[in-house]
Amino acid sequence: MQEENRAGVPPQRTAPPEEHRTSTTEKGSFCSAACTCGWRGPARRARSQARRDAAVHQEA
Ligand SMILES: [Zn+2]
Repeated sequence: MQEENRAGVPPQRTAPPEEHRTSTTEKGSFCSAACTCGWRGPARRARSQARRDAAVHQEA
């Protein structure tokens, strides 16, 4: 029973991969994007711009 020598075969973890679920939050007349990973986009005046920031973040 030697399970130490498993070269090239990393153990699989049950933890799910980090997801990036973005959403937009309105603050007054501004709108900013936020992600579940903790990322936050800059405040935008247009929601479409905030969504664009979120899209760029998800691609990265
Ligand atoms: Zn993210």
